Amino acid sequence: MLHFTQLKSAFKELELADKPVIVHSSLKRFGPIECGPKTVIQAILATTHGLMVPTFTYMTMVTPGVGPDNNGLTYGSGRDLNKMAVPFHHDLQPDKMMGSLPRTLLFQEGSSRTAHPILSFGGIGLDHILITQTLGEPLAPIGALANHDGWVILINVDHSVNTSIHYAEKLAGRRQFLRWAIVENRIVECPGFPGDSTGFTEIDECLRNDTRRVQVNNAVIQAVPLKRLFAAVQELIKKDPLALLCQRSDCERCNTVRNL
Ligand SMILES: [Zn+2]
Repeated sequence: MLHFTQLKSAFKELELADKPVIVHSSLKRFGPIECGPKTVIQAILATTHGLMVPTFTYMTMVTPGVGPDNNGLTYGSGRDLNKMAVPFHHDLQPDKMMGSLPRTLLFQEGSSRTAHPILSFGGIGLDHILITQTLGEPLAPIGALANHDGWVILINVDHSVNTSIHYAEKLAGRRQFLRWAIVENRIVECPGFPGDSTGFTEIDECLRNDTRRVQVNNAVIQAVPLKRLFAAVQELIKKDPLALLCQRSDCERCNTVRNL
């Protein structure tokens, strides 16, 4: 059983006491944790300067019958899924693939959540950063976090879930997409929707010297400064405009970027 003090000393080794962080996580490899994900959140809060997590809700999305060209989407393809879509509301559970930490964070005292119907963020102690999000600039909090010398922490996950790379792709001029989501009883256009992240592990090599690593039992915690991450992604895309795209032949968003 993993205890708070063990987790706290692991996160402390990252030396991020004065840095705000965005966290992506899968907690399974830690094994049993005393009091569960809550303890991980407390350990992060005790060793950093505020925490935010994606609390994305893809179940709010609908696919229309028609829309703009080059949008990485087959229009009219989501008829059955559209029927299952649910309106966004403040207490809607984040998608399961976000892991248990974001779900737990939203129930913590002092936590906030932004109101983007698909790409909401939750956080504790970072309201001044979360407030920068708009419908048109869904990833703005990641830019704001970088301006405050923020770091990204990956707990037992790799860069394929690192949302901050999407922000850097946009900085590099890569195409963003238009998506649609239900809010109350209407459908809202959500611009600035990012591409596919499956190919993001390619960035690993470029960040080898900038990554701090700590191991706890079988679990690996990595931390990377956002500014350095943004620079590495932009450098890579400048060198190779197809960098970080996945190799799946049926990936609509990567294929759109490839064929523009
Ligand atoms: Zn792809």
